[in-house]
Amino acid sequence: MAPLPAVNEWPTLRICRKIPRFFIPLRALPPVPKWNHMTLIDTHCHIDVAAFDDDRERVLARCEKADIGKIVVPGIRANSWDALLLTCSSHPMLFPALGLHPAFLKQHSAQDLDKLAHGLHDHRPVAVGEIGLDFYRHALDRDAQQVLFEAQLALAQNAALPVLLHVRKAHDQVLSTLRRFPVKGGICHAFNGSEQQAMHYIELGFKLGFGGMLTYERASKLRSLAAQLPLEAIVLETDAPDMTVASHHGERNSPEYLPECLQTLATLRTETIDTIAAQTTRNAEEVLSLKCLTTPS
Ligand SMILES: [Zn+2]
Repeated sequence: MAPLPAVNEWPTLRICRKIPRFFIPLRALPPVPKWNHMTLIDTHCHIDVAAFDDDRERVLARCEKADIGKIVVPGIRANSWDALLLTCSSHPMLFPALGLHPAFLKQHSAQDLDKLAHGLHDHRPVAVGEIGLDFYRHALDRDAQQVLFEAQLALAQNAALPVLLHVRKAHDQVLSTLRRFPVKGGICHAFNGSEQQAMHYIELGFKLGFGGMLTYERASKLRSLAAQLPLEAIVLETDAPDMTVASHHGERNSPEYLPECLQTLATLRTETIDTIAAQTTRNAEEVLSLKCLTTPS
C-alpha cells in the first residue's frame, strides 16, 4: 500500500494575522450567556496543519461535545491538499476547501492551477479557498497576486463553487475583481473592512466571517461593525491555530473556542444568543451548501 501523505507542516509564515498586543484585554470579560445547544459551524479552521498533529482527534471530540457540528478546512498550498482531503475524509464533521493562498505566492506554480481544476472536479470541495489579495505584506507582488486570484475565481465560476476570501488592505481591489468575476458568493474571512465595504460584499452574495478578534474589548471598530451588520450576513469562525480568543491569548487557537466568539457576539447584539447561534449556522449552511451535503433528500 502506498504510504499516506504526510500532514503538511504549519508554515513558518503565518497565513492570517496575528492579534496585536494592543488588543490584550485590560480587564476580565463580563460573564457570558449560554446558548441552547444549537449546532455551530466553524467556517474557517486549519485543523489539518501540524499544530494539531498531536491532538487532532481529542480537539475534534471536544468540539462535538461543545456542539460544534461542522468545521470548514481551507486549503492554502497544492502540496498540502492531499493531506487535507485525507483528514477531512476520515472525519464527517470536516468539510474541505481547496485553494492557493496569496501569502504563499512564491510557492505556487501554473501547474498548481491545473491541479486545482482537477481537484475541484474530482473531490467537489465545499468552496475554492483560501484565495484573495494580501496587500499588507509588501513582499508579495500585487500583480502576481491579482493574476492568481483571477485564475482561481475563474475556476470557481466553472465549478459553480463559492469562495473563501483572505483580504488584507485590499477590500476595494477584491470587490472590483469580484464584479468582473462574479462567483456563487462565499465568505470574506476575518472581515476587517468598513461597513460600506461589508454591504458591497453582501450585495455580491457574501457572508462576513467574525472570530477571535471580537473577544478583545479594544477591537472597538470591529465590535461595532459586528453589532450593526444584518445578522443574515454573519458567520462564525476561529481561524485556528491563529487569531486566538482573548481568554487564550498567546496560546494555540482551537475550533473548540468557537462558542466564545458566539458568546461575545451575543453580548454585542440585540438578538438572543439562541437566535444568533441558529442564524449564523443557517448562514454558513446556505452560502456553502452544507445542508445538502449532510441531509439526505
Ligand atoms: Zn486561513
